[in-house]
Amino acid sequence: MSKTAPPPPDYTRISPVTPEIRRRVRRADPSDTISSGISVAKAPVGVEIEAVAVGSLAAAAGIRPGWKLNRINGHGIRDTVDFYFHGSDEELDLELDDSDGTARRVFVEKKSPEEFLGLELKQFTTQNCGCNCVFCFVHQLPDEMRKSLYVKDEDYRLSFMQGSYVTGVTLKPEDLDRIATQRLSPIYLSVHAVDEVLRRWLLGIRKATPILDVLEFFRENRIQVHTQIVLCPTHNDGAQLDRTLDALVALHPSVQSVAIVPLGMTKWRDGLPALPPVTPEYARQFIRRTTPRLREIERRFGEPFVLLADEWYLIAGRKAPSYSKYPDLPQLENGVGMVYHFYRDLRDAKRILRDSAPDRPWRVGAVTSTLSVPVLEKIAAACADANIEVTPLPTVNTLFGETIHVTGLLTGQDIRRTIGENPGFDQYLLPGNCLRRYDTKFLDEMTLAQLRTKTGARIDPVLGGARDFVETILEAATGYRHDEAKGHALAQTVHWSNS
Ligand code: SF4
Repeated sequence: MSKTAPPPPDYTRISPVTPEIRRRVRRADPSDTISSGISVAKAPVGVEIEAVAVGSLAAAAGIRPGWKLNRINGHGIRDTVDFYFHGSDEELDLELDDSDGTARRVFVEKKSPEEFLGLELKQFTTQNCGCNCVFCFVHQLPDEMRKSLYVKDEDYRLSFMQGSYVTGVTLKPEDLDRIATQRLSPIYLSVHAVDEVLRRWLLGIRKATPILDVLEFFRENRIQVHTQIVLCPTHNDGAQLDRTLDALVALHPSVQSVAIVPLGMTKWRDGLPALPPVTPEYARQFIRRTTPRLREIERRFGEPFVLLADEWYLIAGRKAPSYSKYPDLPQLENGVGMVYHFYRDLRDAKRILRDSAPDRPWRVGAVTSTLSVPVLEKIAAACADANIEVTPLPTVNTLFGETIHVTGLLTGQDIRRTIGENPGFDQYLLPGNCLRRYDTKFLDEMTLAQLRTKTGARIDPVLGGARDFVETILEAATGYRHDEAKGHALAQTVHWSNS
């Protein structure tokens, strides 16, 4: 009997949001979001001052944490973006309310527009995205994770300030005006597909401003945009992807780059449309099919424009590309060029190893994700020449499922298990991106200190690239002094007063 092909998906039917999905998403603290119907541009004027830098102009002017900053040079301040936009003048007329609600006025003269005023404003509340994307990670989380993970935020201000992606569906005309007026560029935009019926199906919504209209607005107003496509096999690949890339290429240079990232599915995916996974075979075929087009566009623009996340190559079992000709990769946060970036300072790392090798053998267990073991080969070889044995310790992600390969989602429990199963190393290294920086907590809320206590092992996170990797080892093995400025970009240089 001949096999019949499954019927093509009906993209006009939006998958219903199941009660289970609603329950998970609502677990977020409602105060974390505001309704997606409210325009950020219409937020009320006046923002609380969170902290004042010690010794700053603001401190000298007597401004205190807890006061409210209402206006700068007559312009209403709604958030940090307004503060930076209007606060860059040299002469500032600040209208404030003090802690008692008494109106105050302070004049500040800076030596240059760049001089630091010394105010930190309270962080703004973000918008809810209003989407139910078929690939949304929030919909695929297990229960009892930290609350903030269930928040489906989308805010063009964060896109501008931190490079987080927005779909654009929450953008109101006044928001677009503000982006253009305040030159909030670049913006990071999730495109996924330019076929609007397919795009809305992927986003799980019935109505949205066409993405090409949003992109055209940015082009007309000379706002640069970095875009991403979450690739869902059989849906926005093939001819749909060709169409999307044609449209984005035509919008260059307003569109600066396109990152294509593979769909990620956890074992908690429930009540969502069935999607074919990105298998190694699919990843190999996808790379084979897209590479000629990527190269042709790169030749035309003189720089890589369409970029595949490194995860494609890791899933396919291929070597991730080198971007040595392009020092400033725009989509690093999206996993494009992560492997290349890690090895950018390999030469420095080798020099340090030559100069400071331990005089007795030192054994390191390097915790990593299951797919990232080959990434460590080069650094392990360099260490081997310096009396240091590095053994990659692949760690299965049991919390999210074996199909999740990114190091940033490794949990304390899984790492603890890996270390327990691989005892006896002098030191264990962790990818620093699986820890929240300000409190060194893993996604499952375990802290680094707890992991150290539970395992009794020396465990150190690596936050930078190859140089940081070897410096972290040598610090433990020989007392080498770690270059904090290079390795740990978290070094605080400003002292803040919160009271
Ligand atoms: S826009 Fe982002 S947060 Fe919102 S549903 Fe889609 S993937 Fe989830």
